[in-house]
Amino acid sequence: MRHITLFFINNDGGGFPGAETALTFKTLADAAVLRNHVLEQLERADAETDPDRKRHRLTFAVIGGGLVGVELFGELTAFVRQVLRLYPRVREDELRFVLLEHGDRVMPEVDPELAAYAAALLRSRPGVEVRTGTGVSRVEPGRVVLGGSAIEAGTIVLAAGILPSPLVATLPLTRDWRGRLVVEATMRTPDRPEVWALGDCAAVPDRHGNPYPCLAQHAIRQAKVLPGTSPRCWPGGSPSRSSTTPSGSWRRSAPGRGSARSGGCGCGARSRGAPAGRTTC
Ligand SMILES: Cc1cc2nc3c(=O)[nH]c(=O)nc-3n(C[C@H](O)[C@H](O)[C@H](O)COP(=O)(O)OP(=O)(O)OC[C@H]3O[C@@H](n4cnc5c(N)ncnc54)[C@H](O)[C@@H]3O)c2cc1C
Repeated sequence: MRHITLFFINNDGGGFPGAETALTFKTLADAAVLRNHVLEQLERADAETDPDRKRHRLTFAVIGGGLVGVELFGELTAFVRQVLRLYPRVREDELRFVLLEHGDRVMPEVDPELAAYAAALLRSRPGVEVRTGTGVSRVEPGRVVLGGSAIEAGTIVLAAGILPSPLVATLPLTRDWRGRLVVEATMRTPDRPEVWALGDCAAVPDRHGNPYPCLAQHAIRQAKVLPGTSPRCWPGGSPSRSSTTPSGSWRRSAPGRGSARSGGCGCGARSRGAPAGRTTC
């Protein structure tokens, strides 16, 4: 029997026009490009005499308030402040950071209480705007368009969710609203029993039927379970489910501060602030 397993992601799609013109944030190379871009904006702002152009260079927009977007946003605000002493003609009160999230809260992947804490922590910083319920219509070079208004920003980063590889969209298999392949708890696709999917390109249901979030901890466990599971699905065999207890989640929203929920021990204990900032995942 032919046996195909699929696993891969990318996160460079935003589902709106111009998304491809924004910076992306997935790989180390993306991070290096973003860092250099931010430093260039600060250098140019330091030498800029036109106030409008200076404001544009000192405005940083992150699209997407999920786990990745929030962590990036927190690090970005801290990084820019940290290097600001190298640019004596840029004042801290000239900086503007905007986080744009379509949903009604940031970090929908975690408890509302922890998400609210992270949002409040970010909002407490000068120059920071966390805008939920704000959908981006399109991105133009140096500009984020939101329905009737726009934000002029020299740095625009797209962190609007992890999307499966474009290859997945070409397959004649059922996908969920995020483009992930619909699979059973055994990770087998219902459409083609010889095709299996895991990781971020698959909507693997947990014991309550909700898909596991796109996290490495789930992808790794699924990868361990699947090779032992799939042969059992062959005639006469009995498939086992990918049922994992989340090993917890941790998110830094500032150097040394964050929000965390433990899970591997099953207690689901939550912490935030400096204790969570010392947590490792
Ligand atoms: C910025 C960022 C931060 C994150 N932080 C965390 C975190 O703190 N904790 C956490 O648990 N998770 C985190 N995640 C999520 C985690 O990275 C993913 O859930 C995990 O990597 C998914 O594993 P995967 O094997 O499905 O996909 P990947 O790790 O993306 O592996 C897929 C591989 O397939 C390759 N590939 C793609 N297309 C093709 C093709 N056509 N042919 C051949 N190969 C191909 C890719 O190059 C890649 O190497 C983060 C993700 C991002 C983007």
